[in-house]
Amino acid sequence: MRADATRRHVHMHREFHIGRHQRLADNPRLLEACKGASTLLPLYDLDPAIPMGPHRAAFLLDSLRELQQQLRALGSDLLLRLQAPNEMYREYYDGAPTMYDANDLPFDLPDLPGVFTSFRRLVEKHTTPIRKPLDAPLSLPPLPTGVVCADIPSPDQLGYEIMECDARSAFPYNNEAWRAGEHSARAHLRRYLASRTIDTYKTTRNGLIGTGLSSKLSPWLALGNISARSVAWAIRDYEQQYGANDGTYWLLFELVWRDYFSLRGRRYGLSQPAPIVDVDKDNFRAWITASTGCAFVDAGMQELRSTGWLSNRMRQIVASYLIHELQAPWQWGEAWFAMQLIDYDPASNEGNWRYIAGQGADPRGGRHFSIEHQRLMYDPEDVYAHYWK
Ligand code: FAD
Repeated sequence: MRADATRRHVHMHREFHIGRHQRLADNPRLLEACKGASTLLPLYDLDPAIPMGPHRAAFLLDSLRELQQQLRALGSDLLLRLQAPNEMYREYYDGAPTMYDANDLPFDLPDLPGVFTSFRRLVEKHTTPIRKPLDAPLSLPPLPTGVVCADIPSPDQLGYEIMECDARSAFPYNNEAWRAGEHSARAHLRRYLASRTIDTYKTTRNGLIGTGLSSKLSPWLALGNISARSVAWAIRDYEQQYGANDGTYWLLFELVWRDYFSLRGRRYGLSQPAPIVDVDKDNFRAWITASTGCAFVDAGMQELRSTGWLSNRMRQIVASYLIHELQAPWQWGEAWFAMQLIDYDPASNEGNWRYIAGQGADPRGGRHFSIEHQRLMYDPEDVYAHYWK
């Protein structure tokens, strides 16, 4: 009787780690947390010991700021605490919610196929459903009495380095339309589909300069400003209206990759990015400071440093260069990307680095790109190399 009463008490005053579910719509955890709660404290733990580059810090804090405003409009708030999240809640910060619900997969997690293609074939063969996105809550339980949440601070107030996003960015997150947060994420998706550039996605996605060559959804997906299944449902609606094509198929295909890496992270665990201990190693320093002497690679590293963004093609090229030409441990590259990328996603980042290093999800033993061949394919006139000189 006593134990029951205590449990009920604990359940009624809940803390809710928002983690990487920074939105109101299609947020099953939030809806669950609201059920029967007389008070609810939404919070986010930001570990000051984890280094973050200027762009990632700015994008994350912008997203938390918008979320705080949304929560305030519903009578709640967001508490930012400067501390490492308790191990119990780490999965909300590290794991990415998937497009497929784990309960709908045609296998149990320990039987996750070892290679991507087998995974994709299985979900396609079983026409694994993508559950319908849920509506946002119309109201939220109030905060516990006496809790006051300060406004989300700016990056400089927290001691992060400040750097304006370069105006040449392919993801100019300081422009209104590209800002962090749920509102821009949904508006961007609507605009992207209305522009119908998805129809040519398969042919443009490897392009290096420009905002419209791929969906550019990853920064919003990484913070959970929009859910992968909301994106998938919007693409399905688009297919109903205009017909399915190579573009719509390949965009969904990439979201399946994202799910696969996320599930691998859950299955095998994620290594926290290695601290970059040996930064004076000349090769590595040259790579991060865009001064390797290979103009194509340096342009990519310059773009990353100036904007927090890099196209998938350039990520592959600079990663292959670090691992296979400079012979540096892939974990250093992973750690550098983790600091810089505005779309940093632990599972996708680690999964892709391992893939290029020839570990994990790759039956072909790594991706060693010939940089010259890549340049001839994707930047034969050195336009990109000059653009980011
Ligand atoms: P689109 O091409 O429009 O694809 C749509 C969505 O599919 C993306 O938003 C993304 O969520 C998913 N997706 C696409 N490609 C991949 C992929 N290879 N792996 C996993 N998901 C994918 N992506 C991240 O979101 N966070 C990371 O930290 C990250 N680190 C990477 C590190 C390396 C070394 C490499 C090679 C790739 C990495 N990627 C990462 C994957 C990919 O580069 C980006 O997801 C993509 O470039 C984002 O652009 P987009 O939204 O326009 O993608």
